[in-house]
This record gives sequence, C-alpha cells and structure tokens, in this order.
Amino acid sequence: MSFTLHGVGVSDGIAIGHAHLVSHVALEVAHYAVPQDEVGNEIARLDAAFTLVHTELESLHASVASGPAAAEYGAFLDLHRMILDDSTLSVAAKTYITQNQCNAEWALTQQMNVLLAQFEQIEDAYLRERKTDVVQVVERVLKALLGHPGHVPPPVQRDGDSILVAHDLSPADVIQYKQHRFTAFLTDLGGLTSHTAIVARSLNIPSIVALHHARQLIRDNDLLIVDGTQGVVIVDPDEHVLSEYRLRQSQLELEKRKLKRIKTTAATTLDGITVELFANIELPQDIEQVKENGATGIGLFRSEFLFLNRDDLPGEDEQFEAYRTVARKMRGLPVTIRTFDLGADKNLDSAKRVAVNPALGLRAIRLSLAEPQMFHTQLRAILRASRHGQIRILVPMLSSVLEIDQTLHLIENAKQSLRQEKTAFDEKIQIGGMIEIPAAALCLDIFMRKLDFLSIGTNDLIQYTLAIDRTDDSVAHLYDPLHPAVLRLVAHVIRSANRAKVPVAVCGEMAGDILFTRLLLGFGLRQFSMHPAQLLRVKQQVLRSHLPGITPLTHKMLRTDDPKKIHSLLTKLNG
Ligand code: PEP
Ligand code: MG
Repeated sequence: MSFTLHGVGVSDGIAIGHAHLVSHVALEVAHYAVPQDEVGNEIARLDAAFTLVHTELESLHASVASGPAAAEYGAFLDLHRMILDDSTLSVAAKTYITQNQCNAEWALTQQMNVLLAQFEQIEDAYLRERKTDVVQVVERVLKALLGHPGHVPPPVQRDGDSILVAHDLSPADVIQYKQHRFTAFLTDLGGLTSHTAIVARSLNIPSIVALHHARQLIRDNDLLIVDGTQGVVIVDPDEHVLSEYRLRQSQLELEKRKLKRIKTTAATTLDGITVELFANIELPQDIEQVKENGATGIGLFRSEFLFLNRDDLPGEDEQFEAYRTVARKMRGLPVTIRTFDLGADKNLDSAKRVAVNPALGLRAIRLSLAEPQMFHTQLRAILRASRHGQIRILVPMLSSVLEIDQTLHLIENAKQSLRQEKTAFDEKIQIGGMIEIPAAALCLDIFMRKLDFLSIGTNDLIQYTLAIDRTDDSVAHLYDPLHPAVLRLVAHVIRSANRAKVPVAVCGEMAGDILFTRLLLGFGLRQFSMHPAQLLRVKQQVLRSHLPGITPLTHKMLRTDDPKKIHSLLTKLNG
C-alpha cells in the first residue's frame, strides 16, 4: 500500500530506490541457538569482550587524565567501569547462555533489558537516568563481540540504489557512509542545520530528517521516492507517480549539467561587483568536489571530522599530512582550517553524553582551552602545513576577550616550539574568529582589533540567538534565519567588519541557500563559504543579481520586525 511521510528536507534532489534499514545503536542483535558443546566457547567470547572493553576504558581513562575536563570524564568512565564489573550484567549474562543455549549477544541484551526494567522502578530521577550508561556499556561490549570496537559498524554495501533509513545518525555515522554508495538518507530525528544534516548535504544526495516514524513504518527493501526539496517520502509508489518523478529527476540532472558551464566564470553581479565563493569541507578527500565546482578557496575545513570514528586521537604527523594535502591541492588558494569543534553533537567516544547541555557545554574553543595538549598538537600540525599553501587558522565559538587572548597565547606557544626546532612555517599566518555567539556579534570591536578576519557561523548564531537546539527536531520549526534578531546581528557584523576593513565571510548554511544570496549581498557580504555542491547555484544567483536594486530592499527588511513583511520583502528581493 502506498503512503507518504513528511519531514524536513535537508538536501535537494530526487532519489528512487529501495529502503535499507539501519540501527544507530548496535542493540538489535541476532538470536540463535548454540549447541551444548559450544556453550563454553560462547561464554569465553563474552568474557573476552568484557576484558577488551575493560582495557578500552582503562586506556580512555589514561588518555583524559590531564586537563580541567579530566575529573568529569574520569567520573563518567569510572561509572562505566563499575557497570561493566557488576556481576548483575556479566555473571547473569553467562548464566543466561548456559540456561538458554543461545549466543552471547542475545544473552547480554536480555540481561540488559532486565536491568533497565529495574532502573525504571527507581524513584530518584538522577539514578533512573543512569540506564543510558548501562545501554552505552552494553553497546561497547556488543561492538567488541561483533568485532567493531569503538564505533558503529558501517552498513552492508548493496547494489547502488539503496536509501538509508535510520532512527537517528550521529555526524560520525554519516561521515562513515561517505565511502558507501547510498542514493538518499532518511532519519526520524534531526534538525535542518544539525551536523548530521550538514554532512548528509555534503554527500550531495537527497536527504530528509525529522520524519518521526520512518524507521518504524518503512520495511527493508520497500520501494521509495525521496523528494529532498519538498521533504517528502513516497513509500511503495504506483507506476504513474513513479514515471512523474523519473521525469523530474532527469530534468534536475539536466539542470545540474547546464550549471557546470559557469564553473570557471567569475562570480560577478550585473553591476560589476565580484564576490568570493569558497567551499566548506569535512575531510581532505572532499577536495575533488571542490575542484569540480570551481571554488576559489576553502572557507571552512571542519577539522574535527579527522577526530571521529576512532579510538585514539590523530597525532601531529597525521594531521599535518591531512592539512598539507588540502593546501597543496588548492595550489595557493586560501585554505581556512577551523580548529577542532568537538563537543555538542560531535563527540570523541570518551566524551559521549558527559555534558548535561552539550550545545552550551565544553565545546569547540572551550574544549581546546581545557585540553591544551590536544590543541597544541593540532596547532603545530596546522602551522607546519602552512608553508605548503595559503593556510589560515579559524577559531570556533569564541565568546570573550579572555578566550581570544588565551587562544592567541597558545598559538604563539606553538609557533615558538617550532622556531626552537627550526621548523619552517608561515610567520604571518592569519588568525580568524567565528562569530557564532550573540556575545561575539555584540562585542565585535574587540574581535576586530585582535583577529585578522571573521567568519559568521549562522548555524550556531541562530541556535544561540533564538535558544533553539539545532539538533532537536521538536523545535526545528522555530529555527528561523529570517528572525529580525538574526538578520540584525548578521547585518551588523558584516557592516562593522566592512567599515573596519576586516575581511568577513558567512560559512553557515545560509551562505549556500539561494534564498538568502541576495539578502547577504545586500547586507554587504562579499565572501560566501558553502558545501561545494551548492556553489554553482549560488554563483548563478550572483550572476543574475543587481546590487542597486537589492540593497534598499534589504535595508527595509532590517527596519521591520513583522515576519510577514520580512517574507514578502524577501520574495520581492528574489523575484
Ligand atoms: C556554523 O555554526 O554556522 C558553522 C559554520 O559551524 P558548524 O556548522 O560546524 O557548527
Ligand atoms: Mg558552528
């Protein structure tokens, strides 16, 4: 029976294919009988998995042993070790294997369910919430049993028309799927500018989040049409609908091919103003797509993706190689490396769920300053790579002058350590700050005095201005780039930076959405950074824009706080 699901489209286009259901957590395990003479082996497998996880937790504990965050992480890891060592989990699971002659994974999840039911009865809310920790510990043991320590196993490769359907995916999960050929992504949870959505968009395939019940309602191998532009999934469509969508799919394909013609054209408005269109990347291999779409630089390299999906931290040499590769491939064009923005929804395994309120917690530069050794390693790697191209350092989530000073001090320390070793680097390397917190936008003067350039991270600026968690689909409808407060902050930053002659870019998702191209041009923006797949459409919009007609309308938008008027002015602007 055909039916339709509605969600939030996060990446345009149409895909037609078969559903491939995946589980974010590894808790959906097979159940099979084990012959009597194999029961001993099964118990030994479980023992080995417990031992492996024990060692994993020990080494994580050792790796976070220094820095102000150590106490918090340490307590969290201690709790996990306690759960792991508790006989109600391990001994009871072994008894279950013996009594039921079944596989270790099944016995473990059955015992976990018993424990979770007991936790439900606890009155104390804090203790009741500790059931998440039990689940996390069991996940770790399951991964060890299944031979994938430390990360979610990637899905089985299918025949190229698979559409991934998941309840939820972390950015780390999605980045793993880069190597797998899926034609679309669907998730029940997630917001428009969550990092999961951003990475899905970077894969350049239609994606929809916030579908709520897709994982429940869609069965494995169902035929699906995914319309990423409208945020609609049609399950089991009839022939008529299918042929209509196939036609639209080929029209879109044709439009995409036509756009390639402007790849090398300068992004100049009808009245002769040239703007820079830079690319956002997550990993060095994204450079191919950057080149294909003619970006004139990298405006945001989200370096934290080098830290995900692994049990250890990338060392200085490994990071250096990654940064040098990008710098070399860009052949002298600007490469803006953002120092790691970990925390919130992009976590090292050891930090999972530590923060009570992750978006407001130890994230981005706050984590870097709390873990100076880890930051030092990255800074040295970036500086060493800086002599192989035009590298710039971009610091995320700065909110105060103290943070700027501490950051500049640590950068100077890293420089000094290289000078002492007589290792060459670009002494004049530019250092910029992201404007992502209203406090930064409102105290811009100090940022402009101390930094060489600015980049507005509208995804977070909107999240923090409107107090909307960008990963939470239940408030996704309130996430509004056209909110008067957001427009005023963005316009203020651009105007002030232009006046002070400090280069300013927008690298949040607003920069890649053609709905906002003219708006930002009218505010005075001359540097945009976006996912490469969005670049040519934005360029086309720039080529068709005439600033003298645009600017008065954008000024009018800033003078009203009536949402209807703002929307009608935007329609006029884009008409
Ligand atoms: C932003 O916040 O707009 C941004 C570009 O950074 P990220 O999306 O990685 O948080
Ligand atoms: Mg951000």
